[in-house]
Amino acid sequence: MTQARRRVAIVGFGPRGLGALEALVRQALVTGTSVAIDVFDPSRWPGGGPSFSPDESEICLLNLPLRSISLPPPPPCSGVQQDFSTWLKNRLQDGAQDGDAYLPRALLGTYLHERYKALLAQLPEAVSVVHHQARVNAAHQDQTGWRLQCADHSHGPYEHVLMSLGQPQTDPDPQLERWRRHAHRHGLQLCAAYPGHALIEAADAWAGRIVGIRGLALSSLDVIRMLTLGLGGRFEGTRYIASGREPARIIPFSLDGQPPAPKPLNAALDARFDPLPEEDAAFEAALHAALSGAADAGPSALFEALGAAVARVIHSVGGAVEQGDIQDWLQQEVAAAGSQEQLATSEALRCGIRQAEGQDLPTIGYTVGQLWRKWQPLLRCVYDSRPIPPNTARTFTAFDEGLKRYSYGAPIETARQLLTLIETGLVDPRAADDPDIRLRPEGWEIQAEDTAVIADVMIDSVLPSPALGQVTEPLVSGLLETRVLSALDDGLGARCGADAVLVREDGTPVQGLGLAGRLSNGSSIASDSIHDCFGDIADRWAATVLQPA
Ligand SMILES: Cc1cc2nc3c(=O)[nH]c(=O)nc-3n(C[C@H](O)[C@H](O)[C@H](O)COP(=O)(O)OP(=O)(O)OC[C@H]3O[C@@H](n4cnc5c(N)ncnc54)[C@H](O)[C@@H]3O)c2cc1C
Repeated sequence: MTQARRRVAIVGFGPRGLGALEALVRQALVTGTSVAIDVFDPSRWPGGGPSFSPDESEICLLNLPLRSISLPPPPPCSGVQQDFSTWLKNRLQDGAQDGDAYLPRALLGTYLHERYKALLAQLPEAVSVVHHQARVNAAHQDQTGWRLQCADHSHGPYEHVLMSLGQPQTDPDPQLERWRRHAHRHGLQLCAAYPGHALIEAADAWAGRIVGIRGLALSSLDVIRMLTLGLGGRFEGTRYIASGREPARIIPFSLDGQPPAPKPLNAALDARFDPLPEEDAAFEAALHAALSGAADAGPSALFEALGAAVARVIHSVGGAVEQGDIQDWLQQEVAAAGSQEQLATSEALRCGIRQAEGQDLPTIGYTVGQLWRKWQPLLRCVYDSRPIPPNTARTFTAFDEGLKRYSYGAPIETARQLLTLIETGLVDPRAADDPDIRLRPEGWEIQAEDTAVIADVMIDSVLPSPALGQVTEPLVSGLLETRVLSALDDGLGARCGADAVLVREDGTPVQGLGLAGRLSNGSSIASDSIHDCFGDIADRWAATVLQPA
């Protein structure tokens, strides 16, 4: 008897959608299952996603050096088996790429898009893939399976649907909402940071004006490069050579004025923060203990293991530190992330650069952050594979989010460029730490020390939170209304199983409907990384989808 062909859909086809497709093809090859897969994404670049879009400005860089990008290979049937760095070598034809280089995000997106096309060209006979260049607005289930509604067409039924939507549309936070109304009323420009090429185009009219940037994380650093390099300026050593098209002043600010710390300069300096095998084992054991109990455990259950590794790293480079100080730092991080950092913006930047260059001994915070970065795969592996109580999810995701200022650190070159721009006076950090901002008809009056300055352009570089309740994307809000989708807790993402299948509030799985990525924050952790897109969740989802009927 021939097996019926399974029908599966993937909605949202950025890198995570591609990771899910590859996992499904691998699983179909292993199980000999026949499967028809529809993928839905309005993008022209399936597989790349907006963050790595091949047509994004080259100013926007990856936050990982080339040597750290290590994706699993595509399914064995695919015509392309090159990893990213081999593909780059062939494409750029200029010999070996520097492993310490931070390349444009668009290059990774081009690789992912080509990887998708190469897979399509060599699919096994039993597997078919169709890309619908459309947005899905609604999903509903009937006796035959899941049906998906696009603007003018209904698709399905599908036995299984995975939503991998990245960060879809959300309600603006109250400040942004007020600012949008203000900008509309007075004809002011309030722009999004991305897409970068659109921002650079708009910025061509801002020469001599004062531009505010809401946010001081990695996106803000992208924006500052777009407003300088993107407008024809260039850096020569520690000098900035202006093109004359730049704004007169750029004023970034955030809730704490702390810039992201740069990552260690090169592989050798980075290796100083590698955990030892016995430290990996202790951290993993602590994670299991913290996450397997029925009681809500916070990240402090990890602090003994973390603290021991932090002390060993600092001592190994000639520093001195007391375990008590490390534990105080960690406890303070839980109580109020970042409240230990007391340096002004430019001084914090300078110190971060000196630590990244190995000129200064690493501080407790810098060391915690680098170890946390190295332990991200282990953290995901243990955390994502089990149900997490809401309180534990809240405290763990908050701790992980807070440490991003170190663990997702900036390329050192970008940090140095920011420092140069501060020293030349083009970037003014005096208002960086949670300034008072008054709305004036001419713009945003930002209080900086004892003076106030009016920015007549404002750029929003703050990524909305992944809280499910704020998502306005019709597909998500429709499923929230019918309670198919529910948040794990206030401020968190969807309640999902380890295989991405949605779980209702009463604990029952939603047959045939899964969600992966940022919107499952809490059920999974540390999803804002290319490596997570090709991780275990996709494999578990594929195994569930193609298990024997
Ligand atoms: C500015 C920025 C820079 C980043 N830089 C890095 C970096 O350097 N390194 C790194 O590891 N990570 C980086 N990240 C994190 C990065 O977003 C993830 O690594 C990765 O892109 C997540 O992939 P995804 O497929 O889950 O989401 P996305 O890449 O966002 O893709 C989601 C896709 O879903 C589609 N979609 C949404 N709603 C619908 C719908 N209703 N119907 C159909 N399609 C829909 C969208 O069109 C989109 O293509 C960055 C993120 C941002 C925002």
